[in-house]
Amino acid sequence: KAMTYDVVVIGAGAAGLMCALTAGYAGRRVLVVEHASKPGKKILMSGGGRCNFTNMATTPANFFSRNPHFCISALRRYRPEHFVELVERHGLEHVEKAPGQLFCAGSAKELLDVLLTECEWAGVDIRLKTSVHSLERQGEGMRLATSLGPIEAGAVVVATGGLSIPTMGATGFGYEIARQFGLAVTETRAALVPFTLTSQWKERAASLAGLSHEVAVRCRDGEYHEPMLFTHRGLSGPAMLQISSYWHSGDALSIDLLPGTEAFEALITARRDAPKRRLSTWLAERLPRRLAQAMVEWHGGDAPLAECSNATLSAWAAYLNDWQLKPAGTEGWRTAEVTMGGIDTQGISSKTFEVQGLPQLRFIGEVLDVTGELGGYNFQWAWASGVACGQAV
Ligand code: FAD
Repeated sequence: KAMTYDVVVIGAGAAGLMCALTAGYAGRRVLVVEHASKPGKKILMSGGGRCNFTNMATTPANFFSRNPHFCISALRRYRPEHFVELVERHGLEHVEKAPGQLFCAGSAKELLDVLLTECEWAGVDIRLKTSVHSLERQGEGMRLATSLGPIEAGAVVVATGGLSIPTMGATGFGYEIARQFGLAVTETRAALVPFTLTSQWKERAASLAGLSHEVAVRCRDGEYHEPMLFTHRGLSGPAMLQISSYWHSGDALSIDLLPGTEAFEALITARRDAPKRRLSTWLAERLPRRLAQAMVEWHGGDAPLAECSNATLSAWAAYLNDWQLKPAGTEGWRTAEVTMGGIDTQGISSKTFEVQGLPQLRFIGEVLDVTGELGGYNFQWAWASGVACGQAV
């Protein structure tokens, strides 16, 4: 005999748990099925183990989607303050590491415990190591074939997340379900991910591994003013993670190593005022020492400024203000924080997250084509879409 629930949520991640506890408090009998051995694995590994769980300045402009309006309703109804209020009720201490970015003061486990405690209070059943074999419409409800046996549900909420970090349980299952029920899936790509470089630049970056420097980076319509980090594999740090959301294979990045300084004018002025100063000295006053040294090695010609022609200074200005660098690629799903793209929001209600014409099937969280910037926005989307769906389901 099939088990029956009002709501079955597939995926015990951020969005799934939030939806389940909301629906549970609303009086629904809720089951969460999760194929991994633990719930909320991504919450635990996020934000370097401290989970950047929201951003107080969240607006729809912090999200990418084919339909930029889709996220507005849920974000407006469930705001960062609401989530902060929830965690504070449980005594969770948090810190604002960068403006608006809230992290757990202790560990991400405390945040996951808040969600699991709330699920328990709301009477939610969570079944781990459970896989869903198939999903079918059954009259007004849904029927699932699972490793627990058949389950009948009034509604199914798919909260299976994106494709990043496959070792943590990510699958394309949500996209398969969407296609099965006639929804489109937009092109997916790894985002918030470090760049890899081709051989020469790879070696150069590796020689500076660990060095971080504030840059302005541009690609297509994107521009970020944040630290960049050299690594053994290439380039990372917030600036590179952010711009990866705009980058497509083959694109060059424009990196400004001296944001706010017109290098050409500054060099001309320096040549006039301090003609004996060497280029390397001038660079070392403005860049981390190791980077300044490396640049002289890469581009050559450490002459006194008086001996530098306008053409030489102009070339240096370009290296500094507009370093054109073509990454070989990204580190891909293995280290990406999020999936750009996903289930096309056309055909899904932005208020209830139900599939139009099939209210017993809903999609929330990262599996949808809604992707946030770096800084706590992705979790805020998971909470907000989870609550909106949990209230409506
Ligand atoms: P998930 O949290 O990924 O949950 C999906 C769940 O579904 C998982 O438990 C998965 O095992 C389960 N599942 C998948 N397929 C199946 C299946 N077939 N059957 C059953 N269960 C299934 N965002 C921030 O806002 N701040 C951060 O600090 C931050 N740091 C991050 C760090 C890393 C390393 C990574 C990878 C991501 C980070 N993110 C961060 C992004 C954030 O973790 C995600 O956007 C968010 O977890 C998405 O929530 P979700 O519930 O939609 O999906």
